[in-house]
Amino acid sequence: MTVPHWLFGDQLGPHFLASGADVPVVMVEARSVFRRRRFHRAKAHLVLSAMRHRAAELGDRVRYVRAETYREGLRAAVGEGPVTVHHPTSYAALRLVRSLPSVTVLPARGFLVAHEDFRGWAGGHGGQRLRQEDFYRWVRRSHDLLMDGDRPAGGRWNHDRDNREPPPKGARTLGAPPPYRPREDDIDQEVRRDLDRWEREGSVAFVGRDGPRRFPASRREALAALRRFVGHRLAGFGPHEDAMLAGDPVMSHSLLSSSLNLGLLDPAECVERAEGAWRAGRAPVGSVEGFVRQVAGWREYVWQLYWYFGEDYRRSNALRHREPLPRWFLELDADAVRARCLATALAQVRDTGWTHHIPRLMLLGGYALQRGWDPQAVTDWFHRCFVDAYDWVMVPNVVGMSQYADGGRMTTKPYTSGGAYVNRMSDLCGGCAYRPGDRVGERACPYTAGYWAFLHRHRARLERNPRMAQPVRGLDRLADLEEVLRREGLRGGDPP
Ligand code: FAD
Repeated sequence: MTVPHWLFGDQLGPHFLASGADVPVVMVEARSVFRRRRFHRAKAHLVLSAMRHRAAELGDRVRYVRAETYREGLRAAVGEGPVTVHHPTSYAALRLVRSLPSVTVLPARGFLVAHEDFRGWAGGHGGQRLRQEDFYRWVRRSHDLLMDGDRPAGGRWNHDRDNREPPPKGARTLGAPPPYRPREDDIDQEVRRDLDRWEREGSVAFVGRDGPRRFPASRREALAALRRFVGHRLAGFGPHEDAMLAGDPVMSHSLLSSSLNLGLLDPAECVERAEGAWRAGRAPVGSVEGFVRQVAGWREYVWQLYWYFGEDYRRSNALRHREPLPRWFLELDADAVRARCLATALAQVRDTGWTHHIPRLMLLGGYALQRGWDPQAVTDWFHRCFVDAYDWVMVPNVVGMSQYADGGRMTTKPYTSGGAYVNRMSDLCGGCAYRPGDRVGERACPYTAGYWAFLHRHRARLERNPRMAQPVRGLDRLADLEEVLRREGLRGGDPP
C-alpha cells in the first residue's frame, strides 16, 4: 500500500511532493487556526484560496478535509494509518506531528540549506556571533550562486552601499513596470462566502480589508509573478531597495514573499532565474546581488535561526519592554494617526496585509521599540496582520531584528532612528503634521522624540555597544532632554 503524504498549508508547490507522482495526498483545513487569532482577512483569504487551488489541481489524488483541528482532520482522512509529512515550519506543528505515532517526518523542503549543514557552519564559529554576511557568503560559495569560480560574480560580495539610495528627488513613484496581479476566480468567491459566513456566525473575527486578492494562490500564478519580476522589475530592484514613497508602496520589490512562504515557489528557482537575468545582460549585478542577498541570505538565515535559537527565543525580552499595544494599532486604525509616515504604513497593512521591509522595520517596528511595547505582542501583531507571516519568519524578524529583544544575538545594534532617517529615505515627511527636526513643541516628530527617549531609557546597556556609544553620547548635548522625556511620558498609548 502506498503511504499517503500530508501537505500543510504552506507546502503547496511541486517540491513538497517530489517523492512520487502517484502518492495519495491529504490536506486538512483546520478552522481552529482562525479561531485562535484575529488574522488579517486578506491573509486568511490567501491561505485558504491557495490550499483550495492546490486541492483543485490534485483532483482525485487528494483527500481534502475540513475539520476543527489538524488532529481530527487527519483522523478523518487516514484513521490510524501511516502518513508522511515534510518537516513543518513551526515548533507547534512539529510537536503535533511528532506526537502522532503514525506520522513519519521527512526533511524540510523549501529552503536552500539543510538544518544539519547550518549546524555544521554555526559550529565552525565556536559560539561567536553568527553574522548574516558570513552565512550569506558561505551559501553563495556552497551553492555556486552568483560566483565566477571562487570569486563573487561582478567582483564584489556586497552591493549594499549602492542599494541604499533615497528615492529620486521630486518623484512621486519610482516608475517601475507594475507587478503581476492575479485575477480572482470561483475558488476566491467561495472562500469569500465562507469568511463572510464565519464572521456572521461569530466564530471568527478578522482585521484589515479583504479587497481583490493581490498575491498568487497557485503555482501557475506564482510562476507568472516570478517571470514578471525577473523579466521587468529585477533590473531596478537594487538602488532604491530601502526607500519609501507615499504614492508607490511596492516600488521595485518583488512581492514574492507570500508565494515563497506558501511553498508555491522554491527559493532555488528564484535566485537561479535572477542570476540568469544578470548573465544574459538583462539586469545589473547590483540589483541581482541585492535580490539574491534577500532570498539566499536573509530568508535562509532567519529560517535557520528560528530553529537554532530554540523555542524559548520567542520569549526573549532583554530590554524588559512590557507596554501593551494600543487599540488604534491593533485595529489598524490609520485614520487616527497624524504622523504621515506611520499612518501611511498602517494604512498599507490595513488595505493589503503587506508593506516592504523598511516600513516594517523602521516605521511599524521602530515605533513599537521606541515606546517599549511587549515584543511578544508585537510579534503576534505582525504574525496576524501580514500576508507572508509565519511563525518561523516572524519570530527572528520581530524579536531579534526589529525589537532587539534578544539583546543582540541577531543584530549588532537596535534598529531605530529619528525622523531624519525617514526624511532622507522617503517623501513621507512632506505634508506631515510634525517636523522631523523638532524634538519638542507642537510639531515634535514622534520618531525623533521617541529615538532620544529610547536611548535615554536604555543608556546603561547601549553605551557599552560600540555601534551605539556615539549616538548615546549625543544625549549629553541635548539641552531639552527633560522636555522631550516629559512629553513622551504624556503621549502614553495615544496615536501620534
Ligand atoms: P523583496 O524586498 O522583494 O525581497 C525578496 C525576498 O527576500 C522576499 O520575498 C523574502 O522572501 C526574502 N526576504 C528578505 N528579507 C527577509 C527577511 N528578513 N526574512 C525573511 N525573508 C526575507 N518576511 C516574510 O517573508 N514574512 C514575514 O512575516 C516578515 N516579517 C518581517 C517583519 C519585520 C519586522 C521585518 C523587518 C521584516 C520582515 N520580513 C518578513 C522580511 C521582509 O520585510 C519581507 O520578506 C519583504 O518585505 C516581503 O516583500 P517582497 O517579497 O517584495 O520582498
